[in-house]
Amino acid sequence: MPALLKPSELVRQLSEHVIGQEAAKKTLAVAIYAHFRRMAASPSLDSVELTKSNILLIGPTGTGKTLLCETLARILDLPFVTADATSLAQTQFVGDEIEAILHRLLDRAGGDLALAQRGIVFVDEVDKLKAVGGDQRGTSGESVQHALLKIMEGAPVRLKDGRHIDTTHILFICGGAFVGLENILTKTHSFGFISTGSGDDQQILERLNARIKPTDLLEFGLIPEFAGRLPIVARLQDLSLEMLIRIMTEPKNAIAKQFAAMLRSDGVELRIEAEVYHQIAELAIEYKAGARSLRGIFEEMMTDVLYAVPDNPAIRQVTIRSLFEPAELTLGSP
Ligand code: ADP
Repeated sequence: MPALLKPSELVRQLSEHVIGQEAAKKTLAVAIYAHFRRMAASPSLDSVELTKSNILLIGPTGTGKTLLCETLARILDLPFVTADATSLAQTQFVGDEIEAILHRLLDRAGGDLALAQRGIVFVDEVDKLKAVGGDQRGTSGESVQHALLKIMEGAPVRLKDGRHIDTTHILFICGGAFVGLENILTKTHSFGFISTGSGDDQQILERLNARIKPTDLLEFGLIPEFAGRLPIVARLQDLSLEMLIRIMTEPKNAIAKQFAAMLRSDGVELRIEAEVYHQIAELAIEYKAGARSLRGIFEEMMTDVLYAVPDNPAIRQVTIRSLFEPAELTLGSP
């Protein structure tokens, strides 16, 4: 295992890839630090009874939940897999599916069981696991919650090859949009903490009032045991226009950087004016899929350019001034 990273260092590294979502990064970093401290304190898996704190990430789609987990796993150099709670509910054999998830984790660990046992599993869309109803042909949301609960609590799972994977130290991060949670919070916090003196820190009061309790999650159909296994809740915000623009340009592998590098290898300089990013971000907001639609819009804009460049070795520079106008091609002197 790499040296234990301090929460501040973890946040710094996460920020190289994930824009904004500072509160979620901080909560996640502190939780991860505690998780690894606990693990380091009890190297023998069965010597100490551990209370593992799994994490719940709440936020609209496309705001960086998966990206945060993925980046975290990469920084920590741990195997990582994602799973979808809704597809778990669509199968009749949820146990087999869960085994398959852990198998994928083992594959990501290159077959190293000890490494897989310290990996990270992200289960998205847990807010869709309603206790009642669900798909008649599949498994009920409640049974899926029970099945997930077992591995989140640390039950060993038998793999196809006969080996057992110990889930005690596997970190489970659950995700979901939890649409409508705000209304539940206003209802349950109507007698929230209020400032009683000038000495009170308004920010702390606001944080306490915005705190999500496990009981708030029950209204989404989560069973108490499952909600109780997710004591750490981090919230991600809707991405603002400014954040969407930063996402296209700032991260190490930002889309704009990727296309610029691609054209550079053909000896072409790519220039995109600020207005273009603004237009793309506005469209993405309309599509309501967070940052998820940025790439599609960007690629569409680049298609004509990428089509023309290989045919014209004289092109030296491509300038895009508007999403709705053809790109300007500058030819080099013969
Ligand atoms: P979800 O919250 O639905 O899990 P993802 O993390 O899968 O969303 O985000 C989808 C894509 O959008 C990512 O691959 C990433 O490129 C981009 N993205 C979303 N949020 C951010 C963010 N905060 N910073 C940088 N990129 C982001």
